[in-house]
Amino acid sequence: MSDLSVCRDILADLVAFPTVSSESNLPVIAYIADRLADVGARVEIFTDETGTKANLFASLGPEVSGGLMLSGHTDVVPVDAQMWTSDPFELVERGGRFYGRGTCDMKGFIACCLARREMLAEAAQEKPIHFAFTHDEEVGCIGAQALVAHLKDREVRPGLAIVGEPTLMQVIEGHKGCCEYTVTFTGRSGHSSAPDAGVNAVEYAARYITRLMELRDGLIERTPVGSRYDPPYATLNVGGLEGGMSHNVIAPRAVLKWETRPVVAEDLGYVKREIADYCRTRLLPEMRRHTPEAGIETEVIGEAAALFPKNANSARDLAFALTGESRADVVPFGTEAGFFRKSAWMLSSAVPARSIKPTSPTNSSVPNSLASAWPCSTGSRSIGYERRRRYRGADRTGPSGADPRHHPRAHLHAGLSARRAAF
Ligand SMILES: [Zn+2]
Repeated sequence: MSDLSVCRDILADLVAFPTVSSESNLPVIAYIADRLADVGARVEIFTDETGTKANLFASLGPEVSGGLMLSGHTDVVPVDAQMWTSDPFELVERGGRFYGRGTCDMKGFIACCLARREMLAEAAQEKPIHFAFTHDEEVGCIGAQALVAHLKDREVRPGLAIVGEPTLMQVIEGHKGCCEYTVTFTGRSGHSSAPDAGVNAVEYAARYITRLMELRDGLIERTPVGSRYDPPYATLNVGGLEGGMSHNVIAPRAVLKWETRPVVAEDLGYVKREIADYCRTRLLPEMRRHTPEAGIETEVIGEAAALFPKNANSARDLAFALTGESRADVVPFGTEAGFFRKSAWMLSSAVPARSIKPTSPTNSSVPNSLASAWPCSTGSRSIGYERRRRYRGADRTGPSGADPRHHPRAHLHAGLSARRAAF
């Protein structure tokens, strides 16, 4: 059986696990664990407090620091209300491309890792090769944060990481953060003819939004010198507002969803500090003047750390050596790499890969997500992946909204540990 056939069969198995973030990923983790154990990997599985999600960390080679970690997430975004032309959880090959949810983001990468596991075991004789496959990346890198918490006190640490996110086959050395919040405004209901008798939650939410828009302008003014991003400044988006009951009823409750993508850590600190000050000094005192129980509660859906480009980056240099590229780029979407570096768990820096997955987030979350049918090489490079064919453009069969800056997120699973924030 050819390398491509082996890889395709594994990818078909992986796609068949419907690992939408709201569902358990335990079966796919067990599948991956079995295959890595086959080649002698030391496999550890860390289950979350709900018992329905797990991270996998596995190692080949000597138990020493250094070496390479291959990183990916096992969850996928939902398929609800999308116009698929085939079963999204059945791999379909058409015109030399594979279609199915997660083929691109990012089961294709995991399939390649598993397809070449024997070669990787061989390559790990002197330096270790690790695998980190996580849960709930799509809802705020929750799994990666938990994995780092489990491993950060260990003396043996990976040297660098390649994160197999879709990057249009480019070496990526930096990305913005992605921080998402849901804010609930609680007021007091009443008849609209007596506005002073109630507290209108929708109106306070609107004032909160207005302040966010001012802060968005402030982020543009704070554009870091030399920023390579497009756009070069941190962005802020109000994604949704729900609340109220009827034309003539004072709205007792409103729920606001917003996110920001900081270029540097100071951007996030600025937004959080300013909006918290505004709530504390303006909105809350007014809301509670006659209604002490009124309030504003912020739920942190996820705070994916940015990966700031560095001059010295051995992960980037390894990607150059493996691919022959000499230029690295930055992207506006987040990955788990930011957490690995931010935690100081990695000895060196991490970089999203010029990966084995030759498409981009542009099509990763739309119906009919695809991965090109790439040649799996048998090359002699140290981790064995040779240059892939250039991505030739995705079929735009999905709806608009495929811009990675608008990457849709699955709804937070009820059992996940969303955090309450003070701001
Ligand atoms: Zn991804």
